[in-house]
Amino acid sequence: MRLRISAAPPPRSRASANFSVFGQDLGRYRRALLGWYDRHRRDLPWRETRDPYRIWLSEIMLQQTRVAAVLGHYRIFLERFPNVEALAAAPEDAVLAAWSGLGYYRRARRLHRCAIELVQKHRGRFPQTAAALLALSGIGRYTAAAIASIAYAEPVAVVDGNVERVLRRLLCAKSTGNKSTGINLTTAQTWQHAQSLLAKSRPGDFNQAMMELGATVCVPHAPRCLVCPVRKWCVTQGEAPRAQPPARQKKNQIWCVLDWRSGDANGNINASGEVRLVQRPKKASLMPGMWELPQSSEPPRRLPAAAPWRTFRHSITTTDYTVHVLRNTSLRNNRLPLMTLPGASPAAKGKWIAVDRIPMLPITGLTRKILKAGGIV
Ligand code: SF4
Repeated sequence: MRLRISAAPPPRSRASANFSVFGQDLGRYRRALLGWYDRHRRDLPWRETRDPYRIWLSEIMLQQTRVAAVLGHYRIFLERFPNVEALAAAPEDAVLAAWSGLGYYRRARRLHRCAIELVQKHRGRFPQTAAALLALSGIGRYTAAAIASIAYAEPVAVVDGNVERVLRRLLCAKSTGNKSTGINLTTAQTWQHAQSLLAKSRPGDFNQAMMELGATVCVPHAPRCLVCPVRKWCVTQGEAPRAQPPARQKKNQIWCVLDWRSGDANGNINASGEVRLVQRPKKASLMPGMWELPQSSEPPRRLPAAAPWRTFRHSITTTDYTVHVLRNTSLRNNRLPLMTLPGASPAAKGKWIAVDRIPMLPITGLTRKILKAGGIV
């Protein structure tokens, strides 16, 4: 990303950390931010459309997920479900399969339920105001404002983690130590201030510009103040307390079995092969009903000589896992003796699933990663 370096006047005094200051200078602040956004924004597919369905999908996918991880999934998801009607008509398993690898699968379930509601109650049309969007199940204040402002140019501000951080630094929200006389922003005040800064002529672009600034310049740990387009208006210029680094993740180990056999159970050696997968309980708190390789938190008692294959690192919510994959393959069809893991439930026997069917199944991100590394999918 190209950014211009510009000289900037010294920061305003902390005493000026209120919004009447912006009142005098608000037009220039908005123009500076929008001008920077026009020149430096990243080219992202959801920025090329005003289609509320595509904007909604991108906003849900981007929650807690990096842009780079979303890009491929966004394209594939839209190929399978190009509009709200197609999404509503799909079985939930197909939606989860298209979501596989993005994690936080509740988002996919909510997206699907909301699509059904849109079709049943709104003939597949999105309401055009944030207030009406908020009445849909699974759409919160941020998402409603993002869709309404970007798709329909409604002048409503968004506040996500990036916007909140930018505002806190711009306005000198409460600091620590005896240096600061900063202000403390409640959630309600943060939304009010975001609303008061919003450029009503280009609300969608302005909202995206605030988020882009937080994502690429006013970043959590080392804000790039020297290249910041709104440095002139910023009270702290990076002196505000930095965000706490995320808490250390827990660490755990898992053993997984990759049982693969060629052909199929009917002796058809030309079939694409089969993999043994286990379905997680439908009531599991994490990834209910999804399919995965048999796994256990304990290592196997006896290992076939060729079994240890690869070790992967994988994170699920707040836990980092070291995953030891044991490979058990057979070119003699179904004579493959199953490898069992201690502590695995009886259900861990699982089912042989044809490799061709796997793209249609909701499989966990870890299983997808392993099957990909094995050249199976
Ligand atoms: Fe202020 Fe620096 Fe953030 Fe710009 S990057 S808003 S100057 S803290």
